[in-house]
Amino acid sequence: MRKHIVAGNWKMNKNLQEGIALATELNNILTAEKPNCEVIIGTPFIHLAKVSDVIDHSVIGLAAENCADHASGAYTGEVSAEMVKSTGAEYVILGHSERREYYNETPEVLKEKVDLALANGLKVIFCIGESLAQREANEQEAVCKAELEGSVFHLTAEQWSNIVIAYEPIWAIGTGKTATSEQAQEIHAFIRSCVAEKFGQEAADNTSILYGGSCKGSNAPELFAKADIDGGLIGGASLKAADFKAIIDAWK
Ligand code: PEP
Repeated sequence: MRKHIVAGNWKMNKNLQEGIALATELNNILTAEKPNCEVIIGTPFIHLAKVSDVIDHSVIGLAAENCADHASGAYTGEVSAEMVKSTGAEYVILGHSERREYYNETPEVLKEKVDLALANGLKVIFCIGESLAQREANEQEAVCKAELEGSVFHLTAEQWSNIVIAYEPIWAIGTGKTATSEQAQEIHAFIRSCVAEKFGQEAADNTSILYGGSCKGSNAPELFAKADIDGGLIGGASLKAADFKAIIDAWK
């Protein structure tokens, strides 16, 4: 059956020393009191190798927040999936709405990134979700389905087993405005039905679908209680160990 996951996305926060301190603090907390779910932290590239050394990977998984859409070569400033893997990271977050919006990451580019990540042994946390205008026009299902079809529905069933989906309504990211648990459950169930249509019911039942968007300790229990919500992708509340732990504890 699918895993329950709480994953942090630090975004462009924390210098190296601050990042190591946060990872160390979280590692101390979670090795002393084992979580009831898989925990992952997504850090900037420069933190990966050092953070990898200070965490117990049997308790905390490590994710990059991006990787290049080329395997190697003359792409100044880029970081390849192979390089990410070599740091000790197990995951990469791809398709985040901030990358789609501010860095013009198209479905085609994301498809390349997904393929390279999987080819290099990384698991992918693939983000999808609609804007406020799309939600108001009741287009959330069409948007999510198109984002899946554009970048991850070409995979084989075997490759699919390394994909985690994060449903993140753009209007809820960093805004303090959370989708209600009913709204989130409704679209998570829809996303799972799309996965079932494409890869079969068993694969769909084994797919972890995370909710992201102003998730915190106070709303996580209600969200995670829903049948198709398998955890969260957490931005702001992953930047303090106590806040992140409160969300992890929603699985207790
Ligand atoms: C995110 O960006 O992945 C996110 C969910 O952010 P926040 O929790 O801050 O809304």
